[in-house]
Amino acid sequence: MTGKILAGVPSRLRIGGDWRDAAGGRTFAVTNPADGGELMAVADAGPADAVAALDAAVTAQEAWAATAPRERAEILRRAFEEIHARRDELAVLITLEMGKPLRDAYAEIDYGAEFFRWFAEEAVRIDGGYKVSPNGRGRVLVMRQPVGPSLLVTPWNFPLAMATRKIGPALAAGCTVVVKPAEQTPLTTLALAAVLEHCGVPAGVVNVVTTSDPAGVVGTLLRDGRLRKLSFTGSTEVGRLLLAQAARTVLRTSMELGGNAPFLVFDDADLDAAVDGAIVAKLRNMGEACTAANRFYAQRGIAGEFAERLAARMAGLRVAPGLDEGSQIGPLIDEAGRAKVGTLVDDAVGKGARVLTGGKPLGDAGYFYAPTVLADVPGDAALLSEEIFGPVAPVLPFDTDEEAVALANATEYGLVAYLYTRDLTRALRTAEALETGMIGLNQGVVSNAAAPFGGVKQSGLGREGGPTGIDEYLETKYIAIDV
Ligand code: NAD
Repeated sequence: MTGKILAGVPSRLRIGGDWRDAAGGRTFAVTNPADGGELMAVADAGPADAVAALDAAVTAQEAWAATAPRERAEILRRAFEEIHARRDELAVLITLEMGKPLRDAYAEIDYGAEFFRWFAEEAVRIDGGYKVSPNGRGRVLVMRQPVGPSLLVTPWNFPLAMATRKIGPALAAGCTVVVKPAEQTPLTTLALAAVLEHCGVPAGVVNVVTTSDPAGVVGTLLRDGRLRKLSFTGSTEVGRLLLAQAARTVLRTSMELGGNAPFLVFDDADLDAAVDGAIVAKLRNMGEACTAANRFYAQRGIAGEFAERLAARMAGLRVAPGLDEGSQIGPLIDEAGRAKVGTLVDDAVGKGARVLTGGKPLGDAGYFYAPTVLADVPGDAALLSEEIFGPVAPVLPFDTDEEAVALANATEYGLVAYLYTRDLTRALRTAEALETGMIGLNQGVVSNAAAPFGGVKQSGLGREGGPTGIDEYLETKYIAIDV
């Protein structure tokens, strides 16, 4: 079955309505993190292909911006339905190239497709303004227009959802796009481009360049004055590099960067719910999520019990290739990802942390790492300040509410925080004091197409999804009228 699914995936660049080989004729291999084996080879774009993709986006921009909002909406709505119609094959594809268990791949498809439905509904609601100026004579007319050709750079951890979260609002706003997927997971994006072609997206509106040289391809595009927008999801480190390059042309940017989410459990919390929430917040996508809980702080009276119960649950999870029946934890993306997790755990243990479960790589093939809970973690352990991006939960105690907030905020990141309490006043007071863009209150997942997703501090700039998500792809123009 997997052979048949892979045979249906385009392996070439999508440029201006054609499927083309890279100008240099090169390809690169996409591998399966469950066994390290090659899945298939895809076109390896270079700078000339990047320019060709932008040429196509620029050429298509005017007509796409002039397309009736209802028509743009209907294409997105059809794409939402088509993703659902192809969900079985897309789920297998996501699991093959990214590694996540099949049930996580289905969850990603449901979440990712929702951005096409949400922005289909928003495309027809782009509005403006009209007001009488304070002097009583002038009139202020405000209109919104598409920002123009946009570069969308996506990470490997949610290959479908990170693409739809950008393509949905861009197309709804009337922007054409060049999509640059992560080199580890280009197949899902190519399959998505085929879905969009099938649903009537005109030539040149969605272009896809797969490459093993992201710096070369993205750098070429960021130097081109015709590009009007960069939307990036990835690490804070690369985000900083791209912001510096974007400064040259004062390019509009949206940045969805890394996280270091705290998970706070107060002593009045429903402990069963907190453990359930912790499992989801930590282990969805094997912990390879920007929203993954990175640090667990439990109030001293319950910290021991919380850690023991979390460890017991994590020890019972089935670690297996994502396509295996009942797999709950798949492999990490590659050996570098697994090595980083191992280094962080070894550093914490070396400094005195106690392993309650896990603490080691698993298996002979693939990049598996055991679900791990660490107690007695010292404050200078690197995994408290760095994104772990793996199935590792450090648990630390706190005494007062003020201390919990101070610990939670002691990071350069500010994407999401989770808090468990049954006291509404405590919940609101804490939520107001946390320096994050999002908060999960008594729940371990915050992702929702109807909500503004994004972070503060070094977790990024801008918001994706929700009623304001389309603003990232719109310019505001004002006309002064003397009446
Ligand atoms: P990454 O920063 O290494 O790569 C992201 C993208 O940037 C990929 O497409 C990659 O090819 C490209 N890239 C890498 N180096 C580049 C360079 N020098 N110039 C131009 N492009 C370059 O991140 P990753 O490892 O793919 O993804 C994991 C990171 O993404 C984590 O930090 C995670 O927190 C973050 N993330 C954030 C969100 C969010 O919404 N805030 C969502 C998912 C992932």
